Amino acid sequence: MDDCIFCKIIDGEIPSDKVYEDETFLAFNDVNPQAPTHILIIPKKHIPKISDITESDNELIGGLFTAAAKICKEKSLSDFRLVINNGEDAGQTVFHIHLHIIGGRSMEWPPG
Ligand code: AMP
Repeated sequence: MDDCIFCKIIDGEIPSDKVYEDETFLAFNDVNPQAPTHILIIPKKHIPKISDITESDNELIGGLFTAAAKICKEKSLSDFRLVINNGEDAGQTVFHIHLHIIGGRSMEWPPG
């Protein structure tokens, strides 16, 4: 999508600190990390938010979590938090589905 910053990262128009890529997903370090490890995994398919997925995306969304497990294993990260913000009130600022991997420090629950 033309005005989507994450689509521009996928297309290489905007640089990213890439940590993983396959034909379906791209993962890169968050520019504003909230923990020692803060990686975003995005599907290459532009879907604005989780509310927009349908059953046809089941494989894609499952794959997003499999990619997260693979990346964390590669980084020897055993304890981590996975976050998907959906909608502005939930803190979503980029409207292209992304899974945050946050780790490398202890975290409180519930979040703020
Ligand atoms: P969210 O608030 O859940 O939509 O998360 C968007 C995330 O994207 C934030 O944590 C931002 O720091 C991150 N972000 C925005 N632009 C970039 C970029 N160009 N490269 C890496 N991370 C970015």
